[in-house]
Amino acid sequence: MSAVQSGMTYRHFENVLRARLSVLRADIAEALRRADQESYGELAGQVHDVDEESLADLLTDVNLAEISREVEEVGDIDAALRRIAERTYGVCIDCGEPIDLGRLEAYPTAKRCLACQRDHEAQPARRPPPKL
Ligand SMILES: [Zn+2]
Repeated sequence: MSAVQSGMTYRHFENVLRARLSVLRADIAEALRRADQESYGELAGQVHDVDEESLADLLTDVNLAEISREVEEVGDIDAALRRIAERTYGVCIDCGEPIDLGRLEAYPTAKRCLACQRDHEAQPARRPPPKL
């Protein structure tokens, strides 16, 4: 069992992720309230009430450029919290090795170790198609 898989470290990252999520909740609710759409105003009221798992779902249909990054991050945090619950958090999804703790501190939602992330980003399929 690696250090990151110990209960104490899981609790630490769970706290970090939940704290980040409440900041995002406030930002998203605020942006929805400002948005000039009636349905978003209604959503804004729900953003604070739903649990973590439902928050990502709630925001699936929101299409606001100014919070698209935040909404994406909510999805990442939701997935990271699920990996904590499943005890797979902190393990690279590609090579199965423990992810460096420093990397997790910097990117608590990291799914891959640094080496695999680099490989992943270097994959030709991930690049936009060449212009003809
Ligand atoms: Zn890896």
